[in-house]
Amino acid sequence: MEYPVYIHGLRTAPKVALTFDDGPNPPRTEQVLEILAEAHIRATFFVMGKWAERFPRTVERLLAAGHLVGNHGYSGQRPLGDYDEAEAVISHITGKPSRYLRSHTYNHAAYFQSEVSRLPGSLTIGLDIDADDWDESDPEAITRNVLDHPRLGPGAIINLHDGAEYEDPSVRLVRPLGTLVALPRIIAGLRDRNLACVALDEMELAPPVTWTWNDGTHDLVLKADAQERAAAAR
Ligand SMILES: [Zn+2]
Repeated sequence: MEYPVYIHGLRTAPKVALTFDDGPNPPRTEQVLEILAEAHIRATFFVMGKWAERFPRTVERLLAAGHLVGNHGYSGQRPLGDYDEAEAVISHITGKPSRYLRSHTYNHAAYFQSEVSRLPGSLTIGLDIDADDWDESDPEAITRNVLDHPRLGPGAIINLHDGAEYEDPSVRLVRPLGTLVALPRIIAGLRDRNLACVALDEMELAPPVTWTWNDGTHDLVLKADAQERAAAAR
């Protein structure tokens, strides 16, 4: 079995995709919405089912503002069915199946055990620019992680966070603070580089990388890495 993951768009069109994980997270998500509205740009929000269930009005605000909502799992913690349970919650609010999905913490082995991850219409989205804002709180560092990234250019998929998976509300309120300060600077920097920010449905995706099952480690691995390892073992 092989599992395709899309990590960037075509390198020929001057577009980049801003993506936000782990929300909806009121009022931080709403603050992100204000920044995006001021810049007149659309983005993609990979929401968690448990937060969508708790904060459905914030998901409705994302939709009303024209943004794209994707499936990022329910709790991010259970291997079996987490994305299927999230899909039931999310599609109930959006009114349609999620076309774009992203595994939480890039645990593809757990993610691909959900039915919804393997439906013909599902696109599994990775990233090629990690702002590291799940770990980093300094807005300067978050901004540099994006704007100074060696792969920043046409087709980049940029990963940011408007929420967190933790039940502790103080963590969820605090974690996106650096991102909120960095976001207008990132958007301005992308503009200076003539890169238009778009939602994923406005970007033509480049062919995916392939993950494959590795019997040795009982885990999913990048197919290219598996081939390299097999060649080295010969
Ligand atoms: Zn996540």
